[in-house]
Amino acid sequence: MVSTLAPVLQSRHIAHPIPGPRSRHLHEQRSSEVTSAFGAALPVFIERAEGGILLDVDGNRIIDFASGIAVTSVGATNTFVQARVAAQLDRFTHTCFMVTEYEGFTEVCRWLNAHTPGTFDKRSALFSTGAEAVENAIKIARAATGRPNVLVFDEAYHGRSLLTMAMTAKENPYKMGFGPFPEQIFRAPNAAPLRWPTGPENACAEALAAVEAILAAHGPETFAAMVIEPIQGEGGFLVPADGFLTGLRRIADEHEIIFVIDEIQAGMGRTGRLFASEHEGVVADLFITAKALAGGLPLSAVTGRTALMNAVHTGGLGGTYAGNPLSCAAALGVFEAFEDGSLLANARVIETIARAHLEPLLDSVAVVAEVRGRGAMLAIEFADPLTLTPRADVAKAVAAACHADGLLVLVCGTFGNVIRLLPPLVIGTDLLEDGLRVLTTAIKQQNGVA
Ligand SMILES: *Cc1c(COP(=O)(O)O)cnc(C)c1O
Repeated sequence: MVSTLAPVLQSRHIAHPIPGPRSRHLHEQRSSEVTSAFGAALPVFIERAEGGILLDVDGNRIIDFASGIAVTSVGATNTFVQARVAAQLDRFTHTCFMVTEYEGFTEVCRWLNAHTPGTFDKRSALFSTGAEAVENAIKIARAATGRPNVLVFDEAYHGRSLLTMAMTAKENPYKMGFGPFPEQIFRAPNAAPLRWPTGPENACAEALAAVEAILAAHGPETFAAMVIEPIQGEGGFLVPADGFLTGLRRIADEHEIIFVIDEIQAGMGRTGRLFASEHEGVVADLFITAKALAGGLPLSAVTGRTALMNAVHTGGLGGTYAGNPLSCAAALGVFEAFEDGSLLANARVIETIARAHLEPLLDSVAVVAEVRGRGAMLAIEFADPLTLTPRADVAKAVAAACHADGLLVLVCGTFGNVIRLLPPLVIGTDLLEDGLRVLTTAIKQQNGVA
């Protein structure tokens, strides 16, 4: 499909102070119609998005370090995605896969079975949202094991539905006022090195010991599944200590607990490999993908060992929109976009360039506590240098300064003191460098160093 629109210029441009007058007007209208329960990281209305730029209704060209929360990794106007979706749109938009079937669903499952870690025989199930896939992974694990309990981790984020809220760690804004929650969810420490009480070198061994203790306290034979993100997303882009994921895998095997990896945010090329768990060589029994899977159309998946995936009675899984044909077409376009390896290479280039800009801040700006992440999933944590007291105020001020200067960044972390970088993998080098200069300038200003 050839677009009739002129390309969006790949440079930062502030036509009107952000948010501009049209965005402010539209935001006022929104406030009279839309529930105030939805926040907005940056209240600007978007006209077009392409490459590394968000063009707003006031003509501002904002550098995108968010990708709609790790979704538009192949770009918001990827030609492979556009072509596949346009062709599908011409044929039909929906049948419901539980009513009559279509090939796109099978093809997406075939790709996931072939490309997710693990060489064993697999089957997949498609859904619409990440939370829905997490819920279904738990359903599958319970059906396959006949056990009730689920082990999750500190700082975990698994979604906003009732079960996944219970699995998510952070209270505000995700859980506050929404209880009671489903029971049978137990939480273990996550081996995050920076804040481990007895020092980073002890994080892995002590966190694994804590997991063993929790399992022992409730009976390991009562646990259907343990669920972990290979790099925690909303929790603050926390890369677990070396050996933690493989240690969990070993514990899961020992007690015949199903090991579930939630790659919703870290997967689909974000970290420079197709999947983040590949960096650790760890293999899940059930593997969850969503976010970047279909380049912006809603699609999620559970992929896993055939014996588990087929343990549920026929008719036991499904959903009206599960694996919608347009979403499947978009996913096939995403797979095509990854085929030549250039996007994965870009993710690694993004890491090299970003680290060159950000790591010097560790020495020059006292309140920068850590620069971490993998590939194009990077973060800067702000904390007082001696006490490690989280500095949400600094993260907030840095984000505000970036937004005013035409760079969209998102804050994350249990304490709200982390700035995360999630640029689309198609971002140009000049634009990336410009965005990083805006960010480093904002950070230095907050510290009075610049
Ligand atoms: C976003 C996210 C989810 C939830 O996905 P939704 O599509 O928002 O329901 C679950 N797990 C992780 C790790 C996520 O980043």
